Amino acid sequence: MLNLIELRITGIQVAYYIVCKRQLWFFSNKIQMEEFSEDVLIGKIISEETFKREKFKELSIENLKIDYIKIKDEIIVNEVKKSRKLEESHIWQVKYYIFRLKKLGLPCYRGIIHYPKLFKKLEVEYKESDSPKIEEALLKIDEIIKQEKPPEVINKPYCRKCSYFELCYI
Ligand code: SF4
Repeated sequence: MLNLIELRITGIQVAYYIVCKRQLWFFSNKIQMEEFSEDVLIGKIISEETFKREKFKELSIENLKIDYIKIKDEIIVNEVKKSRKLEESHIWQVKYYIFRLKKLGLPCYRGIIHYPKLFKKLEVEYKESDSPKIEEALLKIDEIIKQEKPPEVINKPYCRKCSYFELCYI
């Protein structure tokens, strides 16, 4: 059951689950407004520029595309983000990638989140205790996605920056 759920859930959905369950529902039910969000566009440009400089490799596994570097025998997940405001969600997105790579028997135990605009990097270390948390989150994500209606508006300062703002605060 969990394996089938994993095949449908991407890293960005795990991040949305942490930030806002309503956002997760919209995104997962194909209501996508990202292309209209200036913030997302800026994020994509930063990401592309950083990738040009850092020369990460991309690994496609099932439903995921993961950027990584290989140091000796270890695979290190790399993720580029614009700001640290939603850092918790970035950390769990990276942990989810590590979780999936580990399940495939690949030697991956940590990741690096790059914040090029801030000239900062954050190292994410995967703990064994993260696995049950991720499994529980995946089951909850699956439940939320299948709900008929989106969860309630969260009324957080982040809403103003969210691409679904107009849908939530009409
Ligand atoms: S505007 Fe707020 S409540 Fe609506 S989806 Fe975005 S974060 Fe969630």
